[in-house]
Amino acid sequence: MRIVLATKNEGKVREIAQMMEGAGIEMLSLNHFAALPEIVEDGTTYLENALKKARTVSEFLGETVLADDSGLQVDALGGEPGVYSARYAGEGATDEENNAKLLAKLKEVPGETRTASFFCALVLYQPGGLYHCFEADWRGRIIDEGRGANGFGYDPIFLDPNFNRTAAELPPEIKNKVSHRGQAFAKFKDWLAAGRLG
Ligand code: IMP
Repeated sequence: MRIVLATKNEGKVREIAQMMEGAGIEMLSLNHFAALPEIVEDGTTYLENALKKARTVSEFLGETVLADDSGLQVDALGGEPGVYSARYAGEGATDEENNAKLLAKLKEVPGETRTASFFCALVLYQPGGLYHCFEADWRGRIIDEGRGANGFGYDPIFLDPNFNRTAAELPPEIKNKVSHRGQAFAKFKDWLAAGRLG
């Protein structure tokens, strides 16, 4: 059984490959395919974006495709950056630029109200149009200054209160258990283990 992962983001590919270890599935990313359709992530929810990516790639390649869409919501900013997480500081923005923009916006917001959550929507789309969704979140807090060198994106400024460490300070095997993506993939793996994939 093989599943194509609808992403080119190597940070995500690494995490997902680790999470799917032992599931008996061959995982390929979009980096294995030369020609691909352009996908504009213009949904207003993570689920809409994940479904659009999974459906478009599956219809194009004729493969079973898994797409994830994820992001960070900061409570004090009314849920920003949300579905714009990857391009918060503009199209093509780096992680550092996105983090700097978020920290600047939270400058006057005190520690206890800097609550935030990561959210992940996963969609598995099969040729023929059958699809399944798996979702999870991860609650934490945005600190004043980045800490840690693991992970990607907003990891250095997202603190998990249960560990008192940022996502970038957590060893990958811990992050992969507790994170939004880890928990959504755990649901997906349970579903696979139950023999639900036809
Ligand atoms: P996507 O690739 O469209 O799902 O965009 C996800 C964006 O949300 C990433 O580029 C990051 O900025 C942010 N993000 C999602 N998951 C994580 C995570 O686990 N750690 C840090 N940032 C994340």
